[in-house]
Amino acid sequence: MRRIPLLEKGGIITGCFSDYCTVRLRIPAGVVTPDQLAGVCEIAKRYGADTLHLTTRQTIEIPHIDPDQVPELVADLEQNNTPLGAERAEVVNITACPGTDRCKLAQIETIKLARAIDEKHFGKEMPCKIRIAIAGCPNSCVSSSLNEIGIVGVVTPIREPGTCTGCGTCVQYCHENAISIKNGTIRLNTDLCSHCGMCIFSCPFHIIQAEDPGYYITVGGRRGRHPKFGRDLVVLRGAENVLTVVDDIINWIYRQAWSGKLLTYQMDEIGFDELREKIIASLPEDCIIEWKKR
Ligand code: SF4
Ligand code: SF4
Ligand code: SF4
Repeated sequence: MRRIPLLEKGGIITGCFSDYCTVRLRIPAGVVTPDQLAGVCEIAKRYGADTLHLTTRQTIEIPHIDPDQVPELVADLEQNNTPLGAERAEVVNITACPGTDRCKLAQIETIKLARAIDEKHFGKEMPCKIRIAIAGCPNSCVSSSLNEIGIVGVVTPIREPGTCTGCGTCVQYCHENAISIKNGTIRLNTDLCSHCGMCIFSCPFHIIQAEDPGYYITVGGRRGRHPKFGRDLVVLRGAENVLTVVDDIINWIYRQAWSGKLLTYQMDEIGFDELREKIIASLPEDCIIEWKKR
């Protein structure tokens, strides 16, 4: 195998064939401009790649690259503003659903948040691989809780004063049976509510309104051979508070975690409960949202 220093970088994958490698890109939330995408295609052709691979983490890989050409190719990718990615024990490509940019069910701006987290943390060398995924609502199209850090937009419905006609539209929209009609008006069962906000969109008379959207954060999930849900950390208001909490989680993992073991298998050992208590104590009280997860 020919070795060059860049091959030690996480975005360069040496697979089954020693004469070739695969180059993975950094594309937070999987969003590129048409010009960036055209640039990737042009670069791939220039270096002899006959295909591109769209990965499960919303990035692009250029396969079948001659290792000797990697430094030049990486420089071209940098110029194209689609730089080298990560895939080892690092913070890897941040994934996100479209969020409020395009989905009518979304409660939060996912792409902006993904870019902000990417800017602060992408590629950091860590004791174990850190995947971060952001979903705009509890439908969680990016399976957020199966990542080391998961973030989901949530909302709490509130019954506003006004005349509920008892039409039952919101009852039909609620997938959790959290709304019932008694004496011609609605009753919200907060124990059953999953905080999706469907009822808010559905009421033709705007009787159900939303509190400020929240960010539900989980830690320590994984997908793969033995999938595990992340553990509940906190539900809070304010994207700026989310960035602070993500900083705290990353620092905690960096300082406490062991290498060679997925985060999900060392959560107790490295003190997840203490982390949760510390984070909750450090946040302004009015930014924490209390609700029961379903
Ligand atoms: S997770 Fe929710 S907001 Fe995001 S794409 Fe899916 S339905 Fe839309
Ligand atoms: S927010 Fe979702 S789960 Fe909660 S009551 Fe409304 S529709 Fe049902
Ligand atoms: S809250 Fe709105 S949608 Fe639900 S029953 Fe009343 S009027 Fe109909």
